[in-house]
Amino acid sequence: MRAVRFDSVAGKLELAEVPIPALERDEVLVKVAACGICGSDAARMDGFVQSRMPIYTPGYEAAGVVAAVGDDVRSWTPGDRVVVAAGRECRNCPECREGRGSDICSDLRLMAVHYDGAWAEYLVTSATALVSVPDAMPLEHAAVLSGAVSTPYGAIDTARLRPAEAVGVWGVGGLGTHLVQLARICGATPIIALDRRPEARERALDRGADVALDPANKRVASYIAEITRGRGLDVAFDFVGRESTFEQARAVLGERGRLVLVKRAPEGSLVEHFSEGEDGRTVIGHTGYRVRHLKALVELTERGRLDVSSSVSAILPLARVVEGLAKVREYEGNPLRVLLRP
Ligand SMILES: [Zn+2]
Repeated sequence: MRAVRFDSVAGKLELAEVPIPALERDEVLVKVAACGICGSDAARMDGFVQSRMPIYTPGYEAAGVVAAVGDDVRSWTPGDRVVVAAGRECRNCPECREGRGSDICSDLRLMAVHYDGAWAEYLVTSATALVSVPDAMPLEHAAVLSGAVSTPYGAIDTARLRPAEAVGVWGVGGLGTHLVQLARICGATPIIALDRRPEARERALDRGADVALDPANKRVASYIAEITRGRGLDVAFDFVGRESTFEQARAVLGERGRLVLVKRAPEGSLVEHFSEGEDGRTVIGHTGYRVRHLKALVELTERGRLDVSSSVSAILPLARVVEGLAKVREYEGNPLRVLLRP
């Protein structure tokens, strides 16, 4: 099969011919229909995140069709349309040994970090890392769900966001823009988007933000106090991760407010939490998502609550991966997804 291979020692990316991987008893072979190019793929290749493999296949936002299943797999058959979670269970932690699967494994293995990713004609993952995609849903849309939409959805779950809560989103790029869209679905109000770039603020308003502010504006805190009628934010999501955004977001939290720091590049455990009580306010770290989040997003899309059709901006063949990466780097922060179609 053809696969994009990245040599992390030489820093070299190339399209190569490699064997179709063999299956273990609990694994599934998926023919990839589409896989996103994420900003953190680029970050990994630029050396900001180390892969555990010297040479590997990048890509972890994939959807496709089951091509073959291992001897023990009963849940899938060839021809099933699926979206692939970016993590699979470790088989070793206490949760896995009890057979409780990928939703609670405490040491998830990550695609393109611990095992080969999806910029290839085929990928292998565990049977529990797949979610069924309805016939009416394009696999390209399903691939977007596993990328820029699932991490914000996981962050909303981490925040325990409830209807009518006031939300602020710092950084409305790929992840933040989808968070705005999802917060709207969850009934948050008001939703305040903060971004330095006017075009990003414009887009956030299109996707459901009530107000969009430039965080450099000296009056941000008083605007937020005014918009929330003095109660401050119930939840602040920080996708920027600078000290300035952190301080600004923390300063406008209301009573029992939660500040969720969303880390872009998944490393180690897929969802990790830390919190510190401070006058009833909480700071929480969040990374990634779980299979149950992906299931929920497929459901929301199938029932017409969530529309990601405008989130696909380009679909390129594997051979044009370098061009695709350039687009992602150049459109840094743009919510529109660039997909590879092997
Ligand atoms: Zn485990």
